[in-house]
Amino acid sequence: MQLTDPTLLRSQALVNGEWVDADSGKTFEVLNPATGEAIGTVADVGANETRRAIAAAEAAFPAWRDSTAKQRSDILRRWHELLMENREDLAQLMTYEMGKPINEARGEAVFGASFVEWYSEEARRAYGEIIPTHDPSKRLMTLKQPIGVVAAITPWNFPLAMITRKVAPALAAGCTAVVKPPEDAPLTALAAAELAGRAGVPAGALNLLPTSEPAPVGDELTANPVVRKLSFTGSTATGKHLMAKAAGTVKNVSMELGGNAPFLVFDDADVDAAVEGAVASKYRNNGQTCICANRIYVQDAIYEEFAKKFAAAVADLRVGPAIDEATAVGPLVNEKAIEKVDDLVTDALAKGAGALTGGKRHALGRTYYEVTVLTDVTPDMRISSEEIFGPVAPLYRFETEEDGIALANHTPYGLASYFFAGDNARIWRVSEGLEYGMVGVNTGLISGVTVPFGGIKESGIGREGSHEGLAEYLETKFVCVGGI
Ligand code: ADP
Repeated sequence: MQLTDPTLLRSQALVNGEWVDADSGKTFEVLNPATGEAIGTVADVGANETRRAIAAAEAAFPAWRDSTAKQRSDILRRWHELLMENREDLAQLMTYEMGKPINEARGEAVFGASFVEWYSEEARRAYGEIIPTHDPSKRLMTLKQPIGVVAAITPWNFPLAMITRKVAPALAAGCTAVVKPPEDAPLTALAAAELAGRAGVPAGALNLLPTSEPAPVGDELTANPVVRKLSFTGSTATGKHLMAKAAGTVKNVSMELGGNAPFLVFDDADVDAAVEGAVASKYRNNGQTCICANRIYVQDAIYEEFAKKFAAAVADLRVGPAIDEATAVGPLVNEKAIEKVDDLVTDALAKGAGALTGGKRHALGRTYYEVTVLTDVTPDMRISSEEIFGPVAPLYRFETEEDGIALANHTPYGLASYFFAGDNARIWRVSEGLEYGMVGVNTGLISGVTVPFGGIKESGIGREGSHEGLAEYLETKFVCVGGI
């Protein structure tokens, strides 16, 4: 890995504006998932460093809160510029630490930076209200004020964007933050924090705590009463655990949790467009996003045509090292991930599914899996109810529109959903009928900085991006002025 600016490869934790080692002196290695080779070593911090980072964020809070929105906006704008200037280095870091194909990593560098730009703009629009009074002697208003110290815990699949999507609105609102990046991909986060410092984010306003053992750090972040908000992105199981812990001090929480996205293709759909949409939704980030199509339901009349065309399109995707420009699907993040995917496929094949293409580990070895399309998948197979997080697409049949919606909704999850259809009335009915936080209609790609991203049911609480993402870090204070 050759960075244009080698000083972006950090190896320590960021506490109160200083790069520090773990108290214990312990470090852990960050591995290239394709080869298993270490590409960096970082400080492995615990509860004590976490306490100090929270104290630093608390100390930095009053001055940051009392700065003007314009001052915070200017610093965020500068941070955005630095992220953009260094986007190739950020992309390289991501690709090397978690295996995102390089062209997608370049896309994420820009996407991640875009949240900082957006919230530099939204910082200046945290408007309160004047409320028509119910009493002539009183005047009524609301103020929007920053919640306080924010803890953010993020996953490895979007090493930059999951951090900027939380930290940028937190800082814009006037909050200070303590971030625990993922153990599989801490290097991009550390580089982004270095750039935040260069942009003028004050000491203590943004702290970063790499660790190979998330529990002690997470326990402190959730138990410490100074932390007023927890924003988490990751699995539903971990989210539930953290919510329960955060309940002890009644912290405000935002949760972006797992998905089990349905992708419905109705018989009036443009089949070629649906194939293209399904490939885009399923195989992005090697199939490792919480909004990747997890269950593809195709209406009877077009099932055979769709399956044939989809399998052919998937078979064309080039599997290879993430750093190669021509690679469409790279390695999975680690060996645990590949074992889980392999288990799900083996279970489905044993219970009667067929592989239209792929179906086993890739000849490249280690963390590579063949791009796979399974047919005749049934609800008793584990793959029907678990998040796949790999380049495997199960196909299901359905008969009527009502059946399709019911099958799609038959899950405790409710993050993203997709469907392809032609009829306008059907598009409205299905959009309204899907119990999901997000619906993609005739498209497999829905994310963007201006729109509210988030789920319902066990997929989460709250929204990120858009103007709603800023509100997650603001409290509404009602002020009643009497004696008038
Ligand atoms: P996945 O690794 O499948 O994306 P996780 O929910 O395990 O999902 O991980 C998401 C983030 O949550 C990571 O940063 C991970 O380190 C963190 N995490 C996992 N367990 C805990 C815990 N007990 N306390 C705090 N953070 C945790």
